[in-house]
Amino acid sequence: MTTALVTGISGQDGSYLAEQLLSQGVRVVGVHRRLSAENFWRIEHVLDRVDLRYADLHDLGSLYDLVEEYRPDEIYNLAAQSFVPTSWSQPILTAEATGLGPIRLLEAVRRVHPKARVYQASSSEMFGNSLDGDGSLNERSRFAPASPYACAKLYAHHMVANYRKAYGLFVVSGILFNHESPRRGLEFVTRKVANGVAKVHLGLTESLTLGALSPRRDWGFAGDYTRAMQAMLRASSPQDYVVATGVDHSVEDLVRIAFAVVDRDWRDHVEHSESLMRKNEVVRLRGDASRARDELGWTPEVDFSGLVRRMVEAELERLG
Ligand code: GDP
Repeated sequence: MTTALVTGISGQDGSYLAEQLLSQGVRVVGVHRRLSAENFWRIEHVLDRVDLRYADLHDLGSLYDLVEEYRPDEIYNLAAQSFVPTSWSQPILTAEATGLGPIRLLEAVRRVHPKARVYQASSSEMFGNSLDGDGSLNERSRFAPASPYACAKLYAHHMVANYRKAYGLFVVSGILFNHESPRRGLEFVTRKVANGVAKVHLGLTESLTLGALSPRRDWGFAGDYTRAMQAMLRASSPQDYVVATGVDHSVEDLVRIAFAVVDRDWRDHVEHSESLMRKNEVVRLRGDASRARDELGWTPEVDFSGLVRRMVEAELERLG
């Protein structure tokens, strides 16, 4: 039986990945940090089928113990401090968790169980504003990280490539563009907007306050992206892949389409706050996932308007 170890099991991606692995008969060991209040709402429906274990990417010993005990075939490192504004207010914590955390895991694998295949969650934020004109970003594009989060992710990204070369480990990075779902945290703009639209529609609030409306992102569905993670780990040789839809939209598009789901005009309900504007904003990200398509046979199934509709409807159901 295949055993997969998933860090960040209680997050959005961990929850979709766990569902998919369980449906394939994979034994899932879910790793999470001890918190005073458990945060298991995304994985409640699979909790009885997952081996939950406490460990922390800050604590090398806890990772050694886990890898030693389970000797997993696959390891998915999804745990991170992943919110860009928090990385400005807590840059050192972000460097520790998002940058150094993966290296502790790599060290545990290298020393205890080098046969394990490791997936590292890299991020399109590593590209910063390197996109020229109307192009798109692939595995060979230039990195220009524009936040402490992006710098930390890029460090881990390069370390994965170094461990692969130097030690011959099967370790890969997925450069995932923004991926969303009804299970996204409320701090991210897609879920914040879906939630705001539902509240306005149900009469719980009059408006929604946002920062910049012009930035563009390549937004896909998280469940499609967790399929790509697995395909990367099961490929014949280890490589890094961009995972993206190839289509970008502005925050304004997002808001317009989300309010249209409930037949409303976004201009009647959206307010602006300077406090939500970002330092060093990344103005546009659009990915080119040709390598993942050609080599892994991966394509996304959910498009942007389908994703937004799904998120608004889920929010209406949750609040209604
Ligand atoms: P990110 O691309 O990983 O930073 O994902 P986010 O969902 O946090 O942000 C996506 C884009 O939405 C960024 O360009 C933000 O500046 C923009 N944005 C505009 N208003 C908001 C807001 O109120 N909250 C968030 N999170 N992002 C906002």
